[in-house]
Amino acid sequence: MKLRILVVEDNALNLELVTDLLEANGFEVLPAQTAEVGIELARRCAPDLVLMDVSLPGLDGLAATKALRANPETRHLPIIALTAHAMKGDEQVALDAGCDGYLSKPIDTRSFGSKVADFIAAAHARRKVLVAATHYAN
Ligand code: MN
Repeated sequence: MKLRILVVEDNALNLELVTDLLEANGFEVLPAQTAEVGIELARRCAPDLVLMDVSLPGLDGLAATKALRANPETRHLPIIALTAHAMKGDEQVALDAGCDGYLSKPIDTRSFGSKVADFIAAAHARRKVLVAATHYAN
């Protein structure tokens, strides 16, 4: 079964580019152009990874990440911020909001697919450790 990635990105061209790259790398894409739609899809579809644009109209990507972290149904989802500002400090802001990592835009089309695969693998490994720790504690 294909891994499913929720992409929250308001810019139609960026969304199309990211979708094309992910599909070319064998992923299935759930697109959302607003945080509100993204949060709803995250709840309903339990994707393997969320790629979250930081800059969105209305609720922004950081607020959306906090909302996902606050909901028991979605709190475990791996979330990677897509940050347009290659400014020092923005990455830390994304991590502080609850993102597991970040990728800066413009996207490097050659390495994007493998970076996404690495994030998913790392998230799965982390979850296994958590499950093992919980089992041990009990
Ligand atoms: Mn944006």
